Amino acid sequence: MAVTPMMRQYREIKSRYPDAILFFQMGDFFEMFFEDAEKAAPVLEVALTGRDAGELGRVPMCGIPVHAVENYLGKLVAGGYRVAICEQVEDAQAARGVVRREVTRVVTPGTLIERQLPDERGNNYLAAVGRAGHGWGLAAADVSTGDFIVGTYTGDTAWTRLVEELARLAPREVLLAGVPWGGEVPEPPRKFGDHVPAAVVTVPDPYLEAAAGTLEAHFGPDAVASASWARHPAARQAAGVLLVYLNETQKRVLSHLRYVRSPLPERHMLLDGATRRNLELTASRDGGRRHTLFGVLDHTVTAMGGRRLRQWLEQPLLVVEEIRERLDAVGRLAADRIKRETLRERLKGMYDIERLAGRVAYGTAHARDLLALSSSLEAMFGVRDLLKGEPGLLGRLAADIDPPAELVDLLKRALADDPPLSLREGGLIRAGYDPEVDRLREASTRAREWLAGLEAQERERTGIRSLKVGYNRVFGYYIEVTRANQHLVPEDYRRRQTLVNAERYITPELKEYESLILGARERMVELEYRLFVELRDRVHSELARIGRSARAVARLDALASLAEAAVRENYTAPVVDDADRIRIKNGRHPVVERVLGPGRFVPNDVLLDSDCRIMILTGPNMAGKSTYMRQVALIVLMAQIGSFVPAEAAEIGVVDRIFTRVGAADNLAGGESTFMVEMNECRAILEQATPSSLIVMDEVGRGTSTYDGMSLARALIEYLHRRVGAKTLFSTHYHELTTLDALPGVVNHTVTVAEEGDEIVFLHRVVPGKADRSYGIQVARLAGLPPAVIVRAREVLERLENGQAAERWKRSATAQLELFPRQKEHPVLSELRRLDVLNMTPLEALSKLDEWQRRLIRER
Ligand code: ADP
Repeated sequence: MAVTPMMRQYREIKSRYPDAILFFQMGDFFEMFFEDAEKAAPVLEVALTGRDAGELGRVPMCGIPVHAVENYLGKLVAGGYRVAICEQVEDAQAARGVVRREVTRVVTPGTLIERQLPDERGNNYLAAVGRAGHGWGLAAADVSTGDFIVGTYTGDTAWTRLVEELARLAPREVLLAGVPWGGEVPEPPRKFGDHVPAAVVTVPDPYLEAAAGTLEAHFGPDAVASASWARHPAARQAAGVLLVYLNETQKRVLSHLRYVRSPLPERHMLLDGATRRNLELTASRDGGRRHTLFGVLDHTVTAMGGRRLRQWLEQPLLVVEEIRERLDAVGRLAADRIKRETLRERLKGMYDIERLAGRVAYGTAHARDLLALSSSLEAMFGVRDLLKGEPGLLGRLAADIDPPAELVDLLKRALADDPPLSLREGGLIRAGYDPEVDRLREASTRAREWLAGLEAQERERTGIRSLKVGYNRVFGYYIEVTRANQHLVPEDYRRRQTLVNAERYITPELKEYESLILGARERMVELEYRLFVELRDRVHSELARIGRSARAVARLDALASLAEAAVRENYTAPVVDDADRIRIKNGRHPVVERVLGPGRFVPNDVLLDSDCRIMILTGPNMAGKSTYMRQVALIVLMAQIGSFVPAEAAEIGVVDRIFTRVGAADNLAGGESTFMVEMNECRAILEQATPSSLIVMDEVGRGTSTYDGMSLARALIEYLHRRVGAKTLFSTHYHELTTLDALPGVVNHTVTVAEEGDEIVFLHRVVPGKADRSYGIQVARLAGLPPAVIVRAREVLERLENGQAAERWKRSATAQLELFPRQKEHPVLSELRRLDVLNMTPLEALSKLDEWQRRLIRER
């Protein structure tokens, strides 16, 4: 027996998608065969069965219902698979031979748009990394919301910054373009933060060749030529490859992806992964959401606003003007309760317009989606009117809100109030919108009424009291008369079916109405579907305008959220400028303060400027050192996203980066040794920090032996002081380090405790000076260690304190301050630097070279 024609078709299509699981539509089911079935069945938790396939014998098979495809897709993609959806693209009844089938979409981890996306306040990115010359390009798209980001990375730290941006976006899938990856060129990491590993795809050459053309086709050649994000070839390559990949897999025009955001190093602060984790911006260390900065600040009422606020948190601003603009807007909303509440009330009526627009672009939006979109667009007018004419950012955003009024009107007139999810059963179009739909609907209603009256009418005519009108799928409508009443059946009845004790009849009139009902219904369903698709296309053509309005709404929601938080948490407006100081009066930690409850948090001041550059913070464990340092970093960060801050007053000179490094014992990242991780992060800070940065180092050096750790910590402080010049908070339990305050700009602070007899009480107050004792033993006692251990520890401590080791260290401290003397440049280099090469003759150049070489040889 030969292979069945259907199997032949299956194998032909499957051969084009070898790396995907093929969902092969057979009527109401998607079936999987062979290894696909074997791989998928356990993941989907469906039974693995078999199907006869001619000479192939029985082949493994499993299937899922078409209507439930969304749930199953999510499972497979989460399991790391790609899924090619192969649909029947012609009517099975009309088909001659095997039904035509086509792959209509390939679903990959980065292109999952189904409704139950894990996190509506987060994004699901597909990223592409390209390289050209010495630059890297990064493109990332969230096809569910239309967010599209393109960036270029050049210079010494390009690679590090690129990887950090990837970590921030945490894409589910990364495309690598144009480079022989591995070896000389490092591959980007696969795991970002706490996310599942990203799928990494090296794109084939044809994609690269198509990149430029696809990019121009998508944005238009003029737009590409003039866009600032498209200036660097690496960025164009990344964006182009991303679009080629989307075309190949999604097989449709994604016109909601037209607006490009481009994070600029001069406008946005880059926060590395370690810092985002340490500051617990959007996820706390235990993975929760509540006790995070986002948890405190998020009072957004729309999913779009939530996503935007999150992006703001992870990407603080650097330009004073822009920060002040946001602060001003937040201030206006915070001060005007009525306006703020009205705004939030009006925003509340909106659905996730960005994702709805995504579904329209995908052609998967159903009637309820369009209804939701139309009511959300309508709600925009209220928001616009409320803020129209406001000064500054609020007014500008209000002016950006420009939903297509005619479209809203059209959708309202056209769509039924409560349409079904399916597009193939009618009920989509409102009465009065289309005369033909109305006519068909009325015809079928009239026919139904006639039918409903038929039973009574025929009983009357024939005198058969038990006469019934019924319907079945094979014979259609019929009139049923029991055997006992056969003699009363009139002439015009025709027999259709004989039952045990009844006969079923039809009449020509009945058949006429039947075909009217069924025909009208069929035509109506078809027509409603067509009208609906027309409406959806109309929406599609307005996506750019809808997107612009949605972005403005999202930002307003984020601003209103910051204002709401400011009022609820009693924050104040920071003064933000370019001055070289950070001054905070009575600052609080926004998250710890909330956890402790009202009145329990002890506020503290900070001043970091040219006289106080590096603060060495000592004090016993649990005194509040980490809390204090993070609070400073968080207040600066909040100010730079345009938020009010938890403090009585704050003057924040904008910082270009915030770095945090937390001692190894606090950080249990797997894989590399924790001490290695710590040192790696320190290296990154020393490499990247500038005099305008803020650095928080918490107990660095704790992951190794005492003297190692102490020496490293000291060398680090000295290096930061001499070479880096960044504002630094450095906590340590090595009291020996407090002698470093001999260096100009290095000051000691300590968190106070009170001693009550043998007990200690944490006061959480940060004051100038140093801790004279570490109280480790008292803290251990508080923790309930057995008295025998405590007593013995005291003995050992006493002996150590009288010993010499600590003494030696102290003496050397002031003697060795010049650990990193500024290196003087070699005279040959200075001369080379000044040389005017373009105005030299070759001979002059040669003789210069000769002179330098002799000199260098002499000096050896
Ligand atoms: P350290 O870093 O010195 O070991 P932490 O900063 O981890 O101490 O603080 C320990 C605990 O002390 C925190 O969990 C918090 O509950 C409390 N705490 C810290 N700072 C304050 C403060 N300013 N006011 C009130 N409680 C605080």
